[in-house]
Amino acid sequence: MPKLEIHQFPCLSDNYGFLIHDPEQQVTATIDTPEVAAIEAALSEKGWALTHILNTHHHFDHAGGNLELKEKTGCHIVGPRAESARIPGIDTQVGDGDQVSFGQFTAKVFDVPGHTSGHIAYWFESEGVAFVGDTLFALGCGRLFEGTAQQMWTSLQKLMALPDDTTVYCAHEYTQANAKFALTVEPGNDALVARSEEIDRLRAQGTPTVPTTMGLEKATNPFLRPMSQNLQETVGLVGRDLVDVFAETRRRKDNF
Ligand code: ZN
Ligand code: FE
Repeated sequence: MPKLEIHQFPCLSDNYGFLIHDPEQQVTATIDTPEVAAIEAALSEKGWALTHILNTHHHFDHAGGNLELKEKTGCHIVGPRAESARIPGIDTQVGDGDQVSFGQFTAKVFDVPGHTSGHIAYWFESEGVAFVGDTLFALGCGRLFEGTAQQMWTSLQKLMALPDDTTVYCAHEYTQANAKFALTVEPGNDALVARSEEIDRLRAQGTPTVPTTMGLEKATNPFLRPMSQNLQETVGLVGRDLVDVFAETRRRKDNF
């Protein structure tokens, strides 16, 4: 079976667009619709015709291009059931545990509420690839606009259960700012210090830091590390419930 082809490109000021393509069945999806012109340019560069949109959540930089792309291409829109009223042009509503067929590939859907109330992630198990929208970022996580810290921590734990070698596609290039914050809450994490230096090198060259991997995030992302003694000490919550440590870490980032 040929591999799922993935093409990543910048959109807007700090979003990433992703096209996925099955060369055998000639189907192409955009993960979210941050910027129509950038998506169209990417499609023509690759010579692919859009057949699907897979939405992660309703925010404008994720679903704002849905209707224009659907009008132009007749593509089929898949999105979160729990936000269906806020996903323009949605055709198929999906939620936790559902399977989405895309050519010869299948994505498993996870409900990952917290950033928005119905946010979903798509996991292509055979490809070892996950599209996580604004739930998990490289060294960060989404702001809690519509959910609680408990909901977000539960969502992040679902993603942490994926294999360490899972390639994780996040929707924004926030990594360098995230690293600066991460170092303030877990300064004793040598892997984080090393990664932060590597990120500075990459960004100085204009190189994306996305995708990341689940293993790297588990080792360095403070929002996945409330169990870290060093982090617990820094935020002053040694031995407390992990959700409390997570909530305090998120609160500090909001005010960073
Ligand atoms: Zn968002
Ligand atoms: Fe976003």
